[in-house]
Amino acid sequence: MLKQTDPAIYQLIKEEEQRQVHNIELIASENIVSEAVQAAQGSVLTNKYAEGYPGKRFYGGCEFIDQIESLAIDRAKQLFNAEHVNVQPHSGSQANMAVYQALLEPGDKILGMNLTDGGHLTHGSPFNFSGQLYHFYSYGVAGDNEQIDYDALAIKADEIHPKMIVAGASAYSRIIDFPRLRAIADHVGAYLMVDMAHIAGLVATGVHPSPVPYADVVTTTTHKTLRGPRGGMILCKKEYAKAIDAAIFPGIQGGPLEHVIAAKAVAFGEALQPEFITYTQQVVANAQAMTAVFAQSDLVRVVSGGTDNHLMLLDLTKSGLNGKQVQAYLDSVHITVNKNTIPFETLSPFKTSGIRVGTPAITSRGFKEADCRLIAKLILEVIENHDQLATMTRISNDVLALTNRFPITQAKFLD
Ligand code: PLP
Repeated sequence: MLKQTDPAIYQLIKEEEQRQVHNIELIASENIVSEAVQAAQGSVLTNKYAEGYPGKRFYGGCEFIDQIESLAIDRAKQLFNAEHVNVQPHSGSQANMAVYQALLEPGDKILGMNLTDGGHLTHGSPFNFSGQLYHFYSYGVAGDNEQIDYDALAIKADEIHPKMIVAGASAYSRIIDFPRLRAIADHVGAYLMVDMAHIAGLVATGVHPSPVPYADVVTTTTHKTLRGPRGGMILCKKEYAKAIDAAIFPGIQGGPLEHVIAAKAVAFGEALQPEFITYTQQVVANAQAMTAVFAQSDLVRVVSGGTDNHLMLLDLTKSGLNGKQVQAYLDSVHITVNKNTIPFETLSPFKTSGIRVGTPAITSRGFKEADCRLIAKLILEVIENHDQLATMTRISNDVLALTNRFPITQAKFLD
């Protein structure tokens, strides 16, 4: 179908599909959705305008859309045991923007995790709306164990009296202590917002403790460990429901992406199945199998000494290479990672001393611990032999042999 009407785009989609089929995908924020999620997202729902919320729309013809969005909300509530859910944020960034808009005034003080220790751009980067509109202060990890320094965080909160504490991270491999954060927030009278974007899938199954009982508001993306379509979501206590909904629409968005919301509903339905518990347990087991191999090596250092979740950060300093170089060498053998800053980073964010490695996507393909140990060994071989053409060619062939054993379901509706 697309093949005939737009061969240029068809060809590029096919090439990207082949890249995903042949590569080992280790970007911690990515995953591989089911064909059912793709089908919902690629449906006629993209044709429909539905400004407003179920039962309160500004457009006619929303009788089916309302049922779809209500199903998405109900499934998310069930999945996370949440009092109120808004499934309309187009992205994780917009979910965060809406929360700040709902609960704060521009210029208010917020305490968030700094970027080099794992925080996200929307947690106060000066290059992002968050750091430009609000007065952000930052907390980070301790020098000795590279885990969040809750004592220092409490002292800082006492000093600055923020109106909100933001927790959650893009590159943090340890369990986050939500009861402790709640206690610190209560002590200074601050809201607690948890951005669980990275760990949402693990939270859904109890593989990571849930922030929902402790946070005033929880934001997330739906496309990382949760394995849904690209998008955002907000969960909150009932008392904030009106303010949060108004901040999303009409505050910062117009028409919701109902095709994406349908795909979110499908993904939440999948996450409610017992197989998703097995999946998320395997994600963590795979990450721990990889860190065990890296921990034995003299070439890299596992930041914080290990992982409790779906990702690990590797400090490359001992190898003499930086993150940008290793990302490129790995790309050349079909292994995809991203360069990443590490705590107490000394290089620029364009070079970085580290790489971030995650297991959600390979686990969706069926990789188990032994495969992950092999991948870790291949990564170490690349770091050691990046200038040896014969070795690099052999590694590339090993990668292709491995990915050939784990096919990806490819969308049939394109042809
Ligand atoms: N929050 C965290 C912790 C993230 O890691 C990310 C994305 O990587 C986001 C928010 C933003 O999500 P999006 O890319 O959908 O705006």
